[in-house]
Amino acid sequence: KPFVEIHDVAMRYGGVEGTLALRGTSLSVAKGEFVAVVGPSGCGKSTLMRLVTGLWPATEGTVIVGGQEVVKPLSVAGMAFQNPTLLPWRSILDNVMLPLEVVEPHRRRLRTERAAYEAEARGLLKLVGLEGVEKKQPWQLSGGMQQRASLCRALIHQPALLMLDEPFGALDIFTREDLWAVLQEVWLARRPTVILVTHDLREAVYLADRVLCMSSRPGRIISETRIPFSRPRE
Ligand code: ADP
Ligand code: ADP
Repeated sequence: KPFVEIHDVAMRYGGVEGTLALRGTSLSVAKGEFVAVVGPSGCGKSTLMRLVTGLWPATEGTVIVGGQEVVKPLSVAGMAFQNPTLLPWRSILDNVMLPLEVVEPHRRRLRTERAAYEAEARGLLKLVGLEGVEKKQPWQLSGGMQQRASLCRALIHQPALLMLDEPFGALDIFTREDLWAVLQEVWLARRPTVILVTHDLREAVYLADRVLCMSSRPGRIISETRIPFSRPRE
């Protein structure tokens, strides 16, 4: 059954005269499905992500996640962007642990189970090759390292929905492929519903069940391809 449903949304930035970033876009993503979104710059991929996560309200249409209409930012979704947006005054470890302070039931458990959660955060950092920098501040790390840390932050609370907007854009090809394996491992183990925006077709085909292609002026989904797979599924 669908976990994310987008019904005929339109998005216009900046009032009636503003840019029509999306029009007539509908999409249904099943629970546990991995969808990739590709398309040229400016076709509305990030806009689509903002509507699903409730960071912007749609000008028209409705967005439903987990059976509920999205009317405010979805704090339960795990999000990672090309721009890592780590809090500069917190260590890498504390940045990764941030969603645990916001999302229930972790928020409640954090007080008594901090050590276990911290071990989990350290484990995730190790998985993405960031062992040893837990206590550093974000500005002491390269852009690619910060990006990997923000992927850990997106995963730490085991979200049912993962929204990833070019999360590997700043990484060299070798690190990027390592992270594909990490993301696939997490997806196979926990089966979150994933929407991934990428410019890398190889990445889309490697990771996703379904690849959506968008076109601009105004942005909309123009095609959809199901990927037949040899990789492990069940
Ligand atoms: P993509 O992620 O595919 O590059 P975006 O969703 O960022 O595309 O942008 C789609 C269109 O909306 C573009 O024309 C862009 O200039 C415009 N746009 C995006 N964000 C804003 C904003 N905050 N204010 C005004 N226009 C915006
Ligand atoms: P949080 O608000 O995420 O719990 P902290 O507990 O680390 O963050 O910091 C408490 C508040 O102190 C923050 O909300 C922030 O406004 C402010 N603050 C601390 N250090 C800085 C800094 N280096 N730059 C900007 N604001 C800071």
